[in-house]
Parts: sequence; structure tokens; C-alpha cells
Amino acid sequence: MLTKTIIDGLEVEYNIVHRKIKYPRLELKTGNLLLVVPKGYKNPEKLIEEHKEWIHNKISAIKDSKERSKGKKLNLNRDEYALRELLLFSVNKFSRELNVKPNRVTLRNMRSKWGSCSSKKNLNFNKLLKYLPDDLVKYVVLHEIAHLREKKHDEEFWKIVSAKFVNYKEKEKDLMDYWFLIQSQ
Ligand SMILES: [Zn+2]
Repeated sequence: MLTKTIIDGLEVEYNIVHRKIKYPRLELKTGNLLLVVPKGYKNPEKLIEEHKEWIHNKISAIKDSKERSKGKKLNLNRDEYALRELLLFSVNKFSRELNVKPNRVTLRNMRSKWGSCSSKKNLNFNKLLKYLPDDLVKYVVLHEIAHLREKKHDEEFWKIVSAKFVNYKEKEKDLMDYWFLIQSQ
């Protein structure tokens, strides 16, 4: 059930799902706030109150991104074959430069991210990347390759990333904008 609330003047919609888990958590993977709570959990409002700053920041960032996405255009000229070429080229280039050896590279349908890097060093990329500008596809590759050096998004990770993409913050924003642009089609 979709519920609405106001946090510091910002309208926030959320869904609650009950699962067999120990601790409640908040998810905002695809732009919609989801409260995942243990079965029998009594007070979801309290969860929102406790994390209202985090929620407010995230939701405002999403609203800004949706607004920015209106000024962007999808690349409709690249097929999956061309995407694969670009991905493999970039994987080779960046893994050489960062001195890492990825295992398998797979293109797949992914629901909530552009790419991922498994503990077995397998790289997965979202098929929807074909709609993004070259530059942004390369950034996604570099981001995942950097995870072969540093698992978490910690300081060290962003240091590796910024050595190749000084404007990585911009790129992360662009990725969010394209995400919403595709969702809105
Ligand atoms: Zn990452």
C-alpha cells in the first residue's frame, strides 16, 4: 500500500513490505522508498522519523535528477552488439591500467543497477547501457573495474576512480538522470 508523508516540506511516498527478517531497513534502489520490516513490526512511522534526514536528501536528489533528465537524450543508434564491443574494449583498457584481471564479462537485464562486480571477479553490465553516451558507458566500466581493487565505496575507491575520471561526481549524477530518463519512456 502506498502511503504519503511530508518530511521538511517534501512530499514522500512509500510502500511497506513485511518479510521474515530481523531488522527493518529502508530501500531506495529505483527511486521509490520501500520500508522492509520484520513480520509484526508495529511502527513504520518511527523508522521514517529516525531516518528523515537521509530520506529527505535522497528524495530531493531523485527529484533534481528527474528534472535534469528532461534535458537529456537517449542514444538510439547503438545495438547490443556495439555495446558489447565498447564494454569489452573498455574492460581491457581499464583492467590493464589498474592492473587487475576480471573473470567473465556478462551483459544482462538488471533491475536496479548499471553494473556489478561479483566476489568471483565477474563483471555484469546492464543491457540498457546501450542508450547511454560512450563516455558514460566507459565510466560504468571503470567504476566496476575499480571494485576489483576496492570492494566498498570508500575513500580509497573514489581515489582510484577520480584518477581516471576527475568529474566522477558528475558522472554518477548523469547515471541517475539516464536511469530516470529510461524509466520515463
Ligand atoms: Zn560501485
